[in-house]
Amino acid sequence: MTRQIFLSHSKEDQNLISDIESVFSRTNLNLITEYFEQVPSPPSEKIKRDIKNSEAVFVLLGPSTVEPGIHTSNWISWEIGFGTARGKPVWVFEEVNNFVDFPVPDLTDYMIYDRNKLGDIQKIRKQVESEFDASPQWAPGMILGAIIGGALGESMEEGGWAPGALIGGLLGATGADGEPEKNAIQITCPYEDCKQSFKLRGTPVDQFPCPTCRKQNILQNK
Ligand SMILES: [Zn+2]
Repeated sequence: MTRQIFLSHSKEDQNLISDIESVFSRTNLNLITEYFEQVPSPPSEKIKRDIKNSEAVFVLLGPSTVEPGIHTSNWISWEIGFGTARGKPVWVFEEVNNFVDFPVPDLTDYMIYDRNKLGDIQKIRKQVESEFDASPQWAPGMILGAIIGGALGESMEEGGWAPGALIGGLLGATGADGEPEKNAIQITCPYEDCKQSFKLRGTPVDQFPCPTCRKQNILQNK
């Protein structure tokens, strides 16, 4: 069975959905985007089954998460809760200039991105690939094995063998722009009544609203 990610979203935020769909078009993961009209009733049964079978729940926050009224936000809240109850990673996606006042009580990862920056979309794809082992061409473990195997063969001829240096070099891979990849920063919200922990990912920011309490977090020592 093809592995899948469940997308919790408002169907009104179609351009945001397209962003995420483009991320998935080149991975070996399916993105499950459900629209109630197409789901046999009651929709909750199909959604529960799909979340159970998913690697993670991705939550797309956009203007329509809260705008049209309580209906959409209620379903999104329930999908997040069902995902966390099943122990699924919950990734919250939000546009950098379009924060939504929608508190997410529990999450594992918070991705802030600029949908006008192609680099950000590529970054999301890379992080999804590495976190969910979703690259279509190869599995990282296989490559590592192949390179070590190859180097071992060479070193026997040359008499020099430095596995530490080789693995170190490989793990310290750089991104397309030559900068070292910094995929995520571990954050614990500093407010006493929050203290939610999550991995902050995506576009570099100086400050952001905590996805749980929605109070401003300021990053130091970037
Ligand atoms: Zn907080």
